[in-house]
Amino acid sequence: MPAHRAQGFHQSLPNGRLPGYVAAQGSELRFTSEDASTSVCMPFSGLELKLGGMNGDVPEFRHSSAEGWVLVVNDRALLTDPLLAAQPALRDSLKKAAGSKAWRGMLIAVGVMILLITLPLLALWLYRQEIVESIVNKIPVETEIQIGKMAWEAMKAEEEIIDDPNFKAQVDDVTKLLLPQINKPNGMEFQFHIARKDDVMNAFAMPGGYVVVYTGLLKKVQRKEQLAGVLAHEIAHVTERHALNNIVSSLGVSVLVSALIGDSSTLESVLAGSSEMLLGQKFSRDAETEADDVAWETLVRSNLDPRGLREFFEILQKEEEKLLGGLMKGALSWLSTHPATEERIARLRQKESEHLSR
Ligand SMILES: [Zn+2]
Repeated sequence: MPAHRAQGFHQSLPNGRLPGYVAAQGSELRFTSEDASTSVCMPFSGLELKLGGMNGDVPEFRHSSAEGWVLVVNDRALLTDPLLAAQPALRDSLKKAAGSKAWRGMLIAVGVMILLITLPLLALWLYRQEIVESIVNKIPVETEIQIGKMAWEAMKAEEEIIDDPNFKAQVDDVTKLLLPQINKPNGMEFQFHIARKDDVMNAFAMPGGYVVVYTGLLKKVQRKEQLAGVLAHEIAHVTERHALNNIVSSLGVSVLVSALIGDSSTLESVLAGSSEMLLGQKFSRDAETEADDVAWETLVRSNLDPRGLREFFEILQKEEEKLLGGLMKGALSWLSTHPATEERIARLRQKESEHLSR
């Protein structure tokens, strides 16, 4: 007959209670205090079982023959005692007592499961940008070049790419100064192409270093520092991997997780199909600010007046206003891919006043 930890409660006791043990034996439940000074007997017949405690799952025994006594059993193993279970009068309350525990246990299990599922999702949500960045950083340069090449092939099929020596010289003049000053990853070679569209004042860079410059832009710039400004900005989108960041940001949680734990096969197939998404994509405001800042540094290192970048934005704004007057906004115009120009002009002016003492 195993004894179970219990406490006997009675108002006559000095502390109102006594620690001790309860055991089922013969035809009764017997409580013996730890110091063996007190014992209380409760016959099975007429034994009352209630559930008490904060969670309503602690068995309490009472009997009319032991007046005022309550035996609180801390050890629930008593509930499965065969002697107790054999008492028809107790069967219902024992079942209820056992059930209350099972129900609580299930509740805890469900709670733990919900936590186990939501915690990683919460972490993913909180650290999404960091996760995206770490995945972007892991994309090999060869993959990047492949994606860019596909986008470039698609663009080449749509645009009239020209080989005009004057335009080419205009671009080369600037890129020969910029390229030695950029953080170009190993294995990547920038290539600049000229597309004939006199009404489009834009340049467009794809991952892997494929850059398309429209004749509209080449005709409108008034000095080479302005062209250098735009090109340095576009180059910065490539070196900072903004397009790859866009693609990875658009991925679902499952692809992110599998890429994160090192299974890059899903990521690679998504990347392989992403070249179309690159054409006409918009960058976030943060990416644009970063591209402006990186371009600024490149211009300064190249000994080119960095005010060219802001001047370019201003020419552009005027041109766009003219076009907007005629409701002719080109799909690939700078403002359609680069919003908030006003703000960026103001920011660059601020930078100029801080860094240039002229
Ligand atoms: Zn941009």
